[in-house]
Amino acid sequence: MIELAEKVLMEDMTWKEIEEAIKAGKDTAIVVAGSIEQHGPHLPTSTDTTLGYALAEACAKKLGNALVAPVIRPGLSEHHIGFPGTITLSIDTFVNILYDYCESLVESGFKNIIILSSHGGNSDTIITYTPRIAKVFMDKAKIFAIPTDRYINASIDYLEKKGVSRVKAGVHAGYAETSMMLHVKPQATRMDLAVEGLANEEFYKPERLKISQLESFTYGLKRLTPVGVLGDPRGATAEEGKKLLEITAEKLTEEIKSFLKPSETKSKHKKRSPQ
Ligand SMILES: [Zn+2]
Repeated sequence: MIELAEKVLMEDMTWKEIEEAIKAGKDTAIVVAGSIEQHGPHLPTSTDTTLGYALAEACAKKLGNALVAPVIRPGLSEHHIGFPGTITLSIDTFVNILYDYCESLVESGFKNIIILSSHGGNSDTIITYTPRIAKVFMDKAKIFAIPTDRYINASIDYLEKKGVSRVKAGVHAGYAETSMMLHVKPQATRMDLAVEGLANEEFYKPERLKISQLESFTYGLKRLTPVGVLGDPRGATAEEGKKLLEITAEKLTEEIKSFLKPSETKSKHKKRSPQ
């Protein structure tokens, strides 16, 4: 029984274990939309999938009422095409997969489904399409999406306080992501090959970042950075990665908890606004 309580990764569990876990109250499923895309010369193409798993596992354990569905490995990575090894889905395929995941998880008995993105390129699409999927299953389960930018900034703020700039932390295969990979999967991380990528301050300014991101989605990453890195991975450490993952998991858990309690917010709101 103790072992069952610790297990949260559905793909490592039997159907009986999953059934028992749901009956025991673990009726929230976390679905991570990751990616299979180039992550510079030093990180594997599965980086977003690996980190998505690590993050979701940490969150599920913090929540205590959640299991982690198998990570959706390829996501929307059109802007990384041109770097060998990148596999992208079309938006239609991606949305259909999200729908099929939700349908299967609802059939399994989950009452809450959280779709979160561990890859920025998936964020806009999960935010746009999840409400449509949620509507179909609204009588059986609550489904909501959390984009990357709802939880990633906490770790960037932490790094900035420690003297690591936003430019160095980066948004793709930079100091932040590389540190987390050194913590989670060091054997797949080649620090001897780590090089600086795009380190233009203008690109990473918080007020400019959305536009920078749209430019990279439109014209592809290769035009911005021939090595495929946004940021600077040099000097990344596993210790820092452990801390970053913890901060990110903490922030994400808070986000999930706030979504899981909408009725409380609603009733409070009613009392406050009599009109
Ligand atoms: Zn990534």
